[in-house]
Amino acid sequence: MRVVVTGAAGFIGSHMAEALAGAGHEVLAVDAPDRSLTPEIAARTWAALAETPGVTPIEADLAEDDLTKLGEADSVVHLAGRPGVRTSWGAGRAAVRRDNVIATRRLLEACAERRPRVVVASSSSVYGSAHHHPHREDAPLAPASPYARSKAEVERLTVRAARDGLPAVLLRYFSVYGPRQRPDMAFHRFVEAALDGRPLPVFGDGRRSRSFTHVRDVVAATVTAAGAELRPGITINIGHPEPASVRTAIGLITGALGVAAEIKTEEPVAGDAERTWADTGRAARLLGWSARTGLAEGLLDQIAWHRSLRAGAR
Ligand code: NAD
Repeated sequence: MRVVVTGAAGFIGSHMAEALAGAGHEVLAVDAPDRSLTPEIAARTWAALAETPGVTPIEADLAEDDLTKLGEADSVVHLAGRPGVRTSWGAGRAAVRRDNVIATRRLLEACAERRPRVVVASSSSVYGSAHHHPHREDAPLAPASPYARSKAEVERLTVRAARDGLPAVLLRYFSVYGPRQRPDMAFHRFVEAALDGRPLPVFGDGRRSRSFTHVRDVVAATVTAAGAELRPGITINIGHPEPASVRTAIGLITGALGVAAEIKTEEPVAGDAERTWADTGRAARLLGWSARTGLAEGLLDQIAWHRSLRAGAR
């Protein structure tokens, strides 16, 4: 298959491009590294990706450039965008709209004629907070930040394109972690602080919990979705079925590093869910997928990556 991966200079996209190329697919890796929250990191990932056999990098800004060529692939995995709840407030709103909503609308339009199979990344943030039960895909949406609202809009655009005949599906990812996790994300901040001997910066009281999901599992689900016969417009949760609290994660990280769990409490982030919790029945039924990596094991993986970064690796 010839597969376009957008956002390939990013955290999930770089793993996705490598996995598809490793499985023998021809990968057209698309990104505008300047649009990343961390352009220097994206530029480094981009340079390394260009050396990966089977990957052809195409620098293109989805919100501006001509995307006709992208619609000619067999499949398109759309991971480009402006992620994160915290950075979506204030001055971040315009970038969120541009790089999530406008970019997705233009990409879907570019696919309308040749109709490749399209997989679009959405986010558990569209649900708002889970209370006594995991969120099923048909739960009402309660997006509580500009980021979450942009993803809800991305979903509407995708469902509309599917109604117009595009074989497009949506995956709602739940807090992804693992090697190359973005520097604005919790585990990245915790591990770096712990390795520096600084207190761990925690937003709020650490009781929030998440269906933390390892990037390897997310990539496996996405590869399967890109090759599967799925009902156009369907949405599938991709998350670990057992939420863990931020405190639990901190205990695992500091335990693995053999340091004290000293914490610096910061203001909670507006619009951040108290709990995200994935119902994964649909992913199991339609993709034969479930998360395989437990949090303790997955965190060791991420810690090893932070250590290798300090030793000069990517
Ligand atoms: P990331 O920031 O590491 O990667 C996104 C990439 O998109 C960046 O490399 C950036 O340069 C690129 N990009 C942004 N705007 C672009 C544009 N206009 N044209 C071309 N490229 C552009 O983010 P990530 O964590 O890898 O997330 C990937 C996708 O998954 C995003 O859509 C995100 O919203 C979604 N998601 C991520 C998580 C998570 O926990 N990481 C959870 C839910 C959903």
